[in-house]
Formats: sequence, C-alpha cells, structure tokens
Amino acid sequence: MSKFNKITPSFIKKLLTLAGSDAVFTQAERLEKHARDFSQDIYFLPEVVVMPSGSEVVSTIMALCNKQRIPVTVQGARSGLTGSAVPVHGGVALSMERFDKIIDIDEKNYQVIVEPGVITEHLQNVLQDKGLFYPPDPAGRGYSHIGGNVATNAGGPRCVKYGVTRDYVLNLEIVLPNGEIMWTGANTLKNSTGYNLTQLITGSEGTLAVVTKIVLKLLPYPHFNLLMLAPFHKAEDACAVVADIFKSGVIPSALEFMDKETIAYAVRYVGSSPFVISPDDEALLLIEVDGNNMDMLQQDCEKIAVVLSQFDVGDILFADSEAQKNELWKLRRNAANAISTLAYAMVTEDTVVPRTKLPDLLRGVKKIGAELGLKTSNLGHIGDGNIHFSIISDEPVTEAWRLKSIEGKREIYKLVQSLGGMLSAEHGIGYLQKPFMKLFFKENHLSILRGIKKAFDPRGILNPAKIFD
Ligand SMILES: Cc1cc2nc3c(=O)[nH]c(=O)nc-3n(C[C@H](O)[C@H](O)[C@H](O)COP(=O)(O)OP(=O)(O)OC[C@H]3O[C@@H](n4cnc5c(N)ncnc54)[C@H](O)[C@@H]3O)c2cc1C
Repeated sequence: MSKFNKITPSFIKKLLTLAGSDAVFTQAERLEKHARDFSQDIYFLPEVVVMPSGSEVVSTIMALCNKQRIPVTVQGARSGLTGSAVPVHGGVALSMERFDKIIDIDEKNYQVIVEPGVITEHLQNVLQDKGLFYPPDPAGRGYSHIGGNVATNAGGPRCVKYGVTRDYVLNLEIVLPNGEIMWTGANTLKNSTGYNLTQLITGSEGTLAVVTKIVLKLLPYPHFNLLMLAPFHKAEDACAVVADIFKSGVIPSALEFMDKETIAYAVRYVGSSPFVISPDDEALLLIEVDGNNMDMLQQDCEKIAVVLSQFDVGDILFADSEAQKNELWKLRRNAANAISTLAYAMVTEDTVVPRTKLPDLLRGVKKIGAELGLKTSNLGHIGDGNIHFSIISDEPVTEAWRLKSIEGKREIYKLVQSLGGMLSAEHGIGYLQKPFMKLFFKENHLSILRGIKKAFDPRGILNPAKIFD
C-alpha cells in the first residue's frame, strides 16, 4: 500500500487558491506531457501539474503537500536522461518554467542571481553580451533549465577546463519540504562555515528541497578559441591520447569523443558533415583551446598536434571559420539526439573513469557488446574520463533484447567499478540508475545518504523513488 495520499477535489480547490487558477492543470494532455523526461524509458502520470510563480507560493504548496502527504516532483525542462523528473508516485508535478527571470547581473562581483526556470543557453548568451562567462554547457543547454542543471550538477564539453555546475554555485534559495524558505550559504567566493548545504543541494536531483533562486559565479569571457578535429584509425588510441594531451601541459577547453557508430547517426541526423570520415577511421576527437592570447593558443595546438602524431591518426582538420566551428559543434551537440531519434531503442549511460583507464573501458564495452550480440556506440566528454555508451537496436526490440541490454548494462557497470570509476558523471541517478547504486556503494554509505534525505524530508514527499528507495 502506498504511503502517499491520493489527490482529492478539495485538495485541488486549495491548490487553486494558493497558486491561482492559471497555474493548476488537470487536463489529460497536460498530465501526459509531464509524465516523461528525455530518457523515454519510464512513464508515470502526475495527478496534477502546478506552475507556480514566486518562492512564497512554492512554500505554501509544499506546506500543504507535506501536511497531506502528497508526493511532489519538481520539474525543469524534463531533458534529464534518468527519469529523475518523472512523477513515479503521481501526486503534484511542480513545474518551474515560470521561474524564468534573470534577477541581477553583478558585473563588479562577477555574479548572477537567476531563477531556476531560465534556459541555460539564454542565460549564457545574455551574460556573453556583457563580456561575462558561465562555462558549464550541457549539450542540451538549448532547452535545459539552469535549475535542472543545478539539481543534476550538469556537466558538458567545457567542464574539462572550467569545472562542472557545482563549481559555480555560490548560494541557493530553497524551499524545504515543510514549506520553510531559506538560503543555503552566502554570495561569497569562499565559505568554510559549517557543512556546505549549497553543494549538498547541488546534484540532489530535487529530493531534498525545491531550488527557487540561484547565485552563480562568473568569469570574464575568453576572447579566442581554436578548434581541431583528429580522426583515429583505432578508437582505443583516441582514448589513450587523452592523458598524454594533459601531460603536455595543455588544458583544452573541450576534448570530445565520438566513435564511428555515433558519427554515422550524427551525420544522418544533421544531414551534412564538414569533414569526410574515412572507412578506416574508428573514432574522432574534437579538441578546442580557448583564451585571450591567440599566439599562445596556436602554440597549444602545435603541442597537441605533436602528441597526436605519436598515434595512428589521420589528417587533422583545423576549423578555419566560425561557420566551420559551428558545423563541427552541431554534429557533436546533436549526436545523442541523433541516436535516440534514428534508432528503434537506445539505452544510454553516463560512466566516468580515471583518464588513463579510458582505453580499458572502451575495449570492455565493445567486448561485452560483442559477447551479448548487442550494438554499442560511444561518445562523450572524454577529457573528463566521461564516456556515454549506448546500447542500440536498429530494429523493433524484443523482450530478449531488453533483457540482454540490462545484462550488458550491468556488466559494463561492473567493469567501470573495477576500473575505479563511477555510475554517473553528470546525468545523476534518478530512477533508472537506482538499481546499480549497490554496485558502487557499501551499505554504510547508502545509510548516510538515507539519513540526509530524512533530515530534509522526514515524510519522504519530495521526488520519492529517486536515487535510492
Ligand atoms: C540531447 C541531450 C544532451 C544532453 N547533454 C548533457 C550534457 O552534455 N551534460 C549533462 O550534464 N547533461 C546532459 N543532458 C541531460 C540533461 O539535459 C541535464 O540533466 C539537465 O541538467 C536537466 O535539466 P532540466 O531542466 O531538463 O531538468 P529536469 O530533467 O526537468 O530535472 C532533472 C532533475 O532536476 C530536478 N529539478 C529540476 N528543477 C529543479 C528545481 N528548481 N529545484 C529542485 N530540483 C529541480 C528534478 O526533480 C530532476 O530530479 C542532455 C540531455 C539531452 C536530451
């Protein structure tokens, strides 16, 4: 029996009073829209969708739901890939899309205060116009919300040089499950004052509190960048070269990997390619350097070219115009979408290992795929040791394929664990990765995580069934 209560007409009436008649939706099409995220693998209907504006309104809604034991799932743009924003127990889908204001850009302190529903790329563009830089750039930044990025501690291509979302979050306004509003820290660059609640909420996948305001640290926008593309005859070499690039003293601002299977989907999806990939090439690296001194960037590229030349690499392409750079990035940024659109089924994952273990990981994924008769593809932020492998079917899937894909996924995670890696680098655990937490953490670790959840949310109403049971 569920520990949660069902939503009644009198509860809806109270919600209408608290949030306003234009903010509460019970129509079937609306519930349907809020029943999935981008993973497409799970589907659970909420009983009502609420789109509040303002922290005070969120506070009253949370207090009501807490009192009546109604589950609440916070939703950003629902571009997550783990089912973390899917309302597994029904109840309220709390959509943050009306929290869409950039509240203050503090150019002197290099900070921005922003509401969670602002689209990441929009925020970046507004800041760039003022010469300011917010680096974390998940490939889905054209639609993901900054609040979703904070809740998942999102990464992206540029994180290899600049760090992930967590490295930029200074302070958060949150609403606790009981409705109390609080700030987690201060708008300061350093803070060693007790436990760090800001970093705890960042990456907590909406299980501890609702984020209603975000203070982010910014950098000056780098003036120049150079982009090169290196095709490799052996995909494992493209993995092995990564540690050597860093050893040469260069920190690229992006170091991205696509294997030939991924490239084929991306080219079909985008419709054109700015380069010709030879049938002999198994993978490519997209390597970007950025900064404010063009001579130094050229020297960095030369150093990288020397490292690449020690491997079995094809002709290196240097993007010679902004248009060509954009075309190359378009291919990379659309790669995941390409596979999910063109394949019949795709199980995609977010593994991370120490850089020197990348060749072992890639070799292992291919071996496990071959042994189980599963097609795999690999892409990712390889400079961070982060490979998104996918198990793909180009035909309608059978139950046998589904079971095999689960087995393949488990075998790959065992390999990742043995290589000193982790279950998720940037997407989070959500609902879909939850069964694998025990491969990576002992019971004492999980018990501390459960204790933290209980301290924030004793009645367990916020995003239940995510990360752990
Ligand atoms: C094509 C594609 C490419 C992607 N590339 C990347 C990538 O490069 N790097 C990367 O890290 N991710 C990537 N992602 C995954 C996804 O875009 C990120 O996880 C993103 O951060 C999710 O943001 P969202 O607004 O869609 O959040 P949602 O999916 O709506 O929610 C994600 C989680 O955040 C919680 N949440 C949302 N808003 C709040 C809030 N205000 N308060 C509390 N909790 C909240 C939800 O409850 C949920 O647990 C990609 C996805 C796609 C589809």
